Amino acid sequence: MQSRREFAVKAFGVGLVSIAPLEGCQGTGKGEPLPVMRRKDFKPAYLKLARSGELDKRIKALKEIYKSCRLCPRECGVNRARWETGVCRSTSRAKVYSAHPHFGEERPLVGRGGSGTIFFSYCNLRCVFCQNWEINHRGDGSYVSDEEIGRLMVRMQEIGCHNVNLVTPTHVVPNIVSGLRTAISLGLNIPLVYNCGGYESLEVIQLLDGIVDIYLPDYKYTDGEMAAKYSAGASDYPEAAAAAIKEMHRQVGEVVVDERGIALRGLMIRHLVMPENIAGTDKFVQWVARELTPGTYVNIMGQYRPEHEAHKYPVLSRRITAAEYQQAIRWALEAGLTRLDGVTV
Ligand code: SF4
Repeated sequence: MQSRREFAVKAFGVGLVSIAPLEGCQGTGKGEPLPVMRRKDFKPAYLKLARSGELDKRIKALKEIYKSCRLCPRECGVNRARWETGVCRSTSRAKVYSAHPHFGEERPLVGRGGSGTIFFSYCNLRCVFCQNWEINHRGDGSYVSDEEIGRLMVRMQEIGCHNVNLVTPTHVVPNIVSGLRTAISLGLNIPLVYNCGGYESLEVIQLLDGIVDIYLPDYKYTDGEMAAKYSAGASDYPEAAAAAIKEMHRQVGEVVVDERGIALRGLMIRHLVMPENIAGTDKFVQWVARELTPGTYVNIMGQYRPEHEAHKYPVLSRRITAAEYQQAIRWALEAGLTRLDGVTV
């Protein structure tokens, strides 16, 4: 599978530089090196929470939300515990499409062993340009128990992955955290990555404090009209994502890596550049520099391609140009961001 970096090099003629690790620091590929922690000094946050008994309380609080679902800002209010469904179409039983090592994620997540991705079926955003619509819209996948989710997490660790990467977890968070209890009892000891679309409930993200070590949210739009038009009416996306990402940043801060450059903890934000600046990239990068920190890890992604129903919208019916991507990177540099994911212009 082609990595994001290979894509950027081929499509836009922009490449990567490898910065030799400095003492106490590791390179992101561009800009400021990442702070280093010794792997032997790192313990995933969830182990402490489990020991204190707090994890069980969080599971109970999260499962309770299913009875009148407000797991995401749509606040559908349906009783998913009784098999009612809202916008995401998921019940209170999680479905998994696949679980395997992934080597196309950001470099600090991949290392040599890969990132242990578990892809959950359905999604609360339902974007018209979804690149995984069979999984996220159609719900392809198999039902799994919470315990099976836990065993999948441990399986990722056993095959040498550096982390458990929960892809599209928002609408099934109660099952995931419940499954984590099983995983801990089986010896899970690697960071959890919460890999989401950014349309998150602040209440739920607060309940994940001390459970998640690495947050990997998208920030897709800075304009609510665009979010409403292309993501099933999610007009409050910019405000909801901003509040959730600020809370993620408060919990885990900037990325910290081990001696080999593998991420242990921190916030990494993804932003997909869209045709005609639909995503509002200029405003997004300024927001990161102003409201978070210029050293926040940001991946400006150039691989937009028209998928699913994008062909119904003329502006979404093409890939972005090299000029659009280069402009996005310039905006990020002008905003003062110092940890862009491995791209140099
Ligand atoms: S998780 Fe699904 S059912 Fe719950 S509020 Fe969000 S879209 Fe609605």
